[in-house]
Amino acid sequence: MEFRNYIGGEWLETTAITANVNPSDISDVLGHAAQATDEDMDRAIAAARDAAPLWAATTPQQRFDVLDAAGSELLARKEELGRLLSREEGKTLAEGIGEVARAGQIFKFFAGECLRQRGDHLASVRPGIGVDVTRAPVGVVGLITPWNFPIAIPAWKIAPALAHGNAVILKPAELVPGCAHALVEILSRTGLPAGVVNLVIGRGSELGPRLIEDARVNAISFTGSVPTGRGIAAACGARLKKVQLEMGGKNPMVVLDDADLGVAVKACLNGAFYSTGQRCTASSRLVVTEGIHDRFVAALIERMHALKVGHALDPETQMGPAVDARQLDQNLSYLDIAAADGGEVIGGERLGRATEGFYMAPALVTGTDAAMRINREEVFGPVASVIRVKDYDAALAVANDTEFGLSAGICTTSLKHATHFKAHAQAGMVMVNLPTAGVDYHVPFGGTKGSSFGSREQGTYAAEFYTTVKTAYTLA
Ligand code: ADP
Repeated sequence: MEFRNYIGGEWLETTAITANVNPSDISDVLGHAAQATDEDMDRAIAAARDAAPLWAATTPQQRFDVLDAAGSELLARKEELGRLLSREEGKTLAEGIGEVARAGQIFKFFAGECLRQRGDHLASVRPGIGVDVTRAPVGVVGLITPWNFPIAIPAWKIAPALAHGNAVILKPAELVPGCAHALVEILSRTGLPAGVVNLVIGRGSELGPRLIEDARVNAISFTGSVPTGRGIAAACGARLKKVQLEMGGKNPMVVLDDADLGVAVKACLNGAFYSTGQRCTASSRLVVTEGIHDRFVAALIERMHALKVGHALDPETQMGPAVDARQLDQNLSYLDIAAADGGEVIGGERLGRATEGFYMAPALVTGTDAAMRINREEVFGPVASVIRVKDYDAALAVANDTEFGLSAGICTTSLKHATHFKAHAQAGMVMVNLPTAGVDYHVPFGGTKGSSFGSREQGTYAAEFYTTVKTAYTLA
């Protein structure tokens, strides 16, 4: 299988050279991916620039039909594409199928958004004049996506971009060209004019700057790491280019004495270890009050040890491998750092399985405090730390003691504390008695502080990024 670039409505005949390896079994090569050149990126930008006015002039019905068709095909093929996703990224098959279904639902939602147009018609403060406030497409949007949700994140950028009348260039993460290829292949058969969707596969450090620095690209939506995001924000700022960033998290889950222990353990197990902890909304800091601490930790360790770690496609598996050797090394090195800083590491061993892959046991680090590196830096693996605190006030202070602000959770049966936490947790998303990860597709997604920059993604709020507001005055 070759994962090729799709530019101006054509699949390019370039030599696919980069091996795409299954993290559950490194002897399983899914295929080879193209490495786009600067010229390829230039052609993709030119194609998008040419196509943007055509697409912007389409009717809501034409846009609806394209997005609805893509959504239907994703939903119909969720098992097949979920298998591809799990084979490529390493999350369990159930998670892979769920993610493809999510991508399909996102396209369906934004198909509906094509028809649900909003605008205002107002009387002017001056006599005889009418005022119209409408939304216009931004133009050409560059989309830079990470490997951890290889279909859902491209979907939640492409679908609103198209619904609001823009042309796009997708630059997916190097590790997951297969999912991007599959998604764009579906879109290529929906009747989209050539050049409205372009796929450029290759190295982010080379292709990303081309996309960002080119004046023909009007806006950049990025999901990925903090250092890359900061660099993109600076480059876009210098060019006054619209930019939207979703970056890391160090999401706290507060567990209070009055929590339902079963609910708290379930939420933390899911939030910390599902998808191998490779979610920016993962619960990586468990902030637990004194009265429940020992019972909670004992119950969580028992459940953590029972998690079945294995090949992503094995139906018994509950946690797949890390995505690659570099990520696995990073996870293990953070356990060493946590131990050196005085934490007690439980689990976290490197594991051998029937096939050679990047397997490790989930890990909990107890006896930590908020200043330790394990509580300040994002690991992006199946690693959670426990911070013991005296009471709710101390828990809230620790929860907010971070440069990040994506998601924050609390497990409590107290309405008073839940209400206070929703108001005072410094995060874009707050969860009560639910894991910090796991969000709906029809409501806004995003964070505060160092986690996000720019307007929100998803739901009706996506219009903020993918359109510009136009105010027109008419003398009757
Ligand atoms: P991760 O550590 O999760 O791989 P990155 O931020 O490096 O996170 O990658 C997220 C996305 O950003 C990927 O598509 C990657 O190719 C791209 N990328 C990496 N470096 C740059 C850069 N300098 N400019 C633009 N995009 C980049």
